[in-house]
Amino acid sequence: MSDNVLKKDFNKKDVERLRNLVKGKAGERTSQGIGYTKKEEFHKEGDIWEADGRKWTIKDGVKQNITKLDKFKTAAVPLFCPACKGIMNKQLDPHYFKAFGECLDCSKIKETKLKISGKLEDQAKIVHNKEIDKTIEEYIQFMDMKMNESNEGFVTEAGEVEKWDGGINKERAQKALKEGIEYLTSLKRD
Ligand SMILES: [Zn+2]
Repeated sequence: MSDNVLKKDFNKKDVERLRNLVKGKAGERTSQGIGYTKKEEFHKEGDIWEADGRKWTIKDGVKQNITKLDKFKTAAVPLFCPACKGIMNKQLDPHYFKAFGECLDCSKIKETKLKISGKLEDQAKIVHNKEIDKTIEEYIQFMDMKMNESNEGFVTEAGEVEKWDGGINKERAQKALKEGIEYLTSLKRD
């Protein structure tokens, strides 16, 4: 072996190997890029890569097996919206599907419809209750009138006319009035 060959072989790598031997780190990788086939990989949210024969991704900052994710996805969220049969390809579709069983658009439309029907319902309730208020008012006026009539009798809450000899029983009449108002009030909607 000539000096020349020795010089050539005794390169940086060997110096490092010797250094490691001295430091007691024998066997440690001494060269960069040589025999180091596995590239270090950095992945960010949404990346898909293969490792150990499986597909992986990062979802919500957590490394997950994509096969598992895919299964979950297809089981939970169909490709087509059951309501409009449209393809659920919008980002928020899976969320809306899980929450409402239909796509984003369908959910929005239904929400709007509900709001409108809710308003109509509120309106109907207001009208209904106003009508009852009006009826109560009329009932009070009618009862007042009846009670002030001399022995004409008075109408009970059941709609029967009661007459008493010797004039109206004011106490009985007041009770009937109260009961009548209570009954009409109970017809109001919450
Ligand atoms: Zn839809």
